[in-house]
Parts: sequence; C-alpha cells; structure tokens
Amino acid sequence: MDNTHDVLIVGGGLVGASLAIALDGAGLRVALVEAAPPRADLQPSYDERNLALARASVNALTALGVWALVGARATPIRKIHVSRQGEFGAVRMNAAAHGVDAFGAVLPARELGNGLLARLDACRALTRHAPAKLDSISIADDAVTATLAASHGQIQLRTRLLVGADGTTSFVRSALGIDVENMDYAQAAFVCTITPERAPDCAYERFTATGPVAVLPLADRRAGVVLTVPAADAGHVAALDDAGFVELVQARFGWRLGRLNRPGRRVSYPLQRVRATRLVAPRGVIVGNAAQTLHPIGAQGFNLGLRDALTLAELLIDGARAGGDPGDAAMLADYAARRCEDRDGTIAMSDALARLTANESPPLKLLRSLGLLALDRVPTLQAALARRGMGFRAGAPRLALGEGP
Ligand SMILES: Cc1cc2nc3c(=O)[nH]c(=O)nc-3n(C[C@H](O)[C@H](O)[C@H](O)COP(=O)(O)OP(=O)(O)OC[C@H]3O[C@@H](n4cnc5c(N)ncnc54)[C@H](O)[C@@H]3O)c2cc1C
Repeated sequence: MDNTHDVLIVGGGLVGASLAIALDGAGLRVALVEAAPPRADLQPSYDERNLALARASVNALTALGVWALVGARATPIRKIHVSRQGEFGAVRMNAAAHGVDAFGAVLPARELGNGLLARLDACRALTRHAPAKLDSISIADDAVTATLAASHGQIQLRTRLLVGADGTTSFVRSALGIDVENMDYAQAAFVCTITPERAPDCAYERFTATGPVAVLPLADRRAGVVLTVPAADAGHVAALDDAGFVELVQARFGWRLGRLNRPGRRVSYPLQRVRATRLVAPRGVIVGNAAQTLHPIGAQGFNLGLRDALTLAELLIDGARAGGDPGDAAMLADYAARRCEDRDGTIAMSDALARLTANESPPLKLLRSLGLLALDRVPTLQAALARRGMGFRAGAPRLALGEGP
C-alpha cells in the first residue's frame, strides 16, 4: 500500500466522511482514518439523534450522491413553529411562502451514517483505515507524518495536508497546537423518538424556563424529541421511567400534537460550546465539531460542519486543478478567511438562543415576545431568517448551492 497522501482526514464521522466523498475523483490521493469499525451501529457519530438538515445540506448531499441512498428515509420540513411557553408571540413559517417545497429535511443520524458508509464504499480513489486511531504526528515543512494504532499494529502515513475531523475532543487540534475556548451550558439534552396522537407536519421549537424542547417530524407518523434540561436535573430525568419522561415532555411541549406515546430509547448529551481559536496551522486544518461544537438548539452543528468540509473540498479541488500543494499556507489562510463570517454568525446565533431562553427578566420576556411577533408578521425579517436557516450564507460552497464541485 502506498502510504503517501495529499490529504489525510482523521475522523470518519458525519463531517469527515462527507469531506472524503467530496474529494473523491478529484485527482488527490486521499486517506480517511476512523477509530470505530465501519458499521453505523458501532460509529459514535451515527447515533440516535435526529438531524434537521438545512436545504443547503440536502443540496450538497444530493450532489455528493448520498441523498439518493437516504432521501427515502427523510421527512421534509415544510413548516416551522417557534414559540415560548407562557408568553405571547410565535413564529410560523411555511416553506411555500418562501418559494420552496421544504426548508430542509429531518433524517436520523444513523440513516445518514449508513448512506455515508455505502457511498464511501463506492469511492474508488480513497484509502480507508478503520478501525485505526491517530496516535501521534510530526510536522515538517513539506509534510506531516502520522502514526496510527490499528488492530494489526502501527501504521505510518505521510501527508501534505492533515485534516482534523475528529470531533469535540479533537486530538488533531491539540497536536497542531490550536487552543480552544470552552463554555459549559450546564444543560443536558435528552433525545428520543415518540409517537404523537396526531402525526406532526411541522418542526416545532418551544422555549421554556427550564430549557428548549424541539419536536421534529419523522417517517411513519413518529417524531424526534430533543429535550434540554438543567444539568442539575439530568440525573433525575435519566432515572424517570418511560411514562414519567413522556409526562415531562408533554408538560414542556404542550398538547399541539395530542397525547404523546411510545417513547423509544433515550440518550443524553452534556451540552458545551467548544470553539477553536483558529482553524489552520502549518499543514493542518480542523473542520466540523473539532473546529466548533455548538448547542443543538439551533440544529446547526452538522449543517455548519458540512459547509466547512465543502468549502475545504472546493479549495483543494481548485488547487489540484492548478497543480498546487494541498498544504499550501496561502490556501489554508484563504480557507480560514472564507469560513469566518458563517462560522462566527452561526456560533453567535446558537449561543444567543441557548442563553436568551434561560433569561427570565420581564423586559427580556417582552422583547422576546415582540421579537417572535415581528418575525411572524414582517415578511422581510422572516425571509432573511429563512434564507439563513436553509444554510445559504455568505460565501456558501458551490455544492451547497446545488452546483457541481
Ligand atoms: C442532541 C444533538 C442533536 C443535534 N441535532 C443536530 C441537528 O438537528 N442538525 C445539525 O446540523 N446538527 C445537529 N447536531 C450536531 C451534529 O450531530 C454534530 O455537529 C456532528 O455530528 C459533528 O460531526 P463530526 O464528524 O464533526 O464529529 P463527530 O461526530 O464527533 O465525529 C468524529 C469522529 O472522529 C473519530 N475519531 C476521534 N478521534 C479519533 C482519532 N484519534 N483517530 C481516528 N478517529 C478518531 C470518532 O470515532 C468519530 O467517528 C446535534 C447534536 C446533538 C448532541
């Protein structure tokens, strides 16, 4: 096996796998390293969470040949309803009013993972190491040498560019000497699937004094719930039996969909914001959760990470066509500059939602209600929100706009 690569991607989660697929056939020697075995049920990234995918992400997954494998399991988001328990004002958005059939779609992460794995199998020019874990790196002027721990022993690879797509606790990030700013939201999110009395035709986001709850439409009349609770209550909520958990969700979400029934497996996640202080280093770059981990309230983590991956793929493909070095410092600086506005804006939006909803002071409550009312009634405000929500941001990568690489 040739152990010399142009691009070595560490982490075959949702973002790293998408990047590897985007680079396939571009004439670059690409390798993908993933610590988990290549099966959706063993891959931590491909779990129970239900992903709200922005329209730009659906476009991109279509262009990557992944949507053809998973689209049948996805549920379109045609309407969005945002409200706050105990306050007036709600935002109702209808895709048709914005000239599109859907704002995006909901897809279980495991289904997307299965599609990504099947699409990776069809990548002819990709070298895959899984299960194999990046153990150490050494950086020289012209290349990075990476040492992997695999089941049959150590493997050494040389690459001109090292990409860290290895998640929130990224080894690549620290090996490249990139610092992070951490913020613990002191909240936990519980994810599960339920069957409401009335099939949901809308994606709901409801803010409450103890944290937001999202209810997303799924196939087969089911709905995906993301219930956020203060960290201090997480132990108690985890210990509830199914009936107790449903009662809690019902009390927080209300009766818009009638009685909620049949909760599926419950999984919880501690919520923190992790923000890398920079995205690039000599011969290295980080993408996805390695670069920023967000509060799930805005449903933006993967959508943003996918735009990271697609922007990087676009620059690498353009560079390869021009015969450039994939680890070129100017190209990496260009990448960091192109991601700046989208990244800062999306982090700020998720953060503001997570913090604002926790604030109970009366003037803020009023402002919130008026804000929701304005968003509901003022078409230009709503159009701007819808466009951002669909993932069409400044400098959006070509694949996200439905164009070729
Ligand atoms: C409850 C919840 C709901 C969410 N809902 C949404 C949503 O609706 N919409 C949305 O866009 N986003 C959502 N997100 C965010 C989204 O799930 C993440 O942003 C996304 O999964 C990040 O993918 P990633 O590939 O960057 O990282 P990860 O998923 O963490 O993948 C990293 C991969 O790297 C591998 N790895 C780690 N270290 C090494 C190593 N040393 N060597 C080799 N491999 C390694 C791991 O095994 C893993 O497979 C949600 C998150 C949560 C918690």
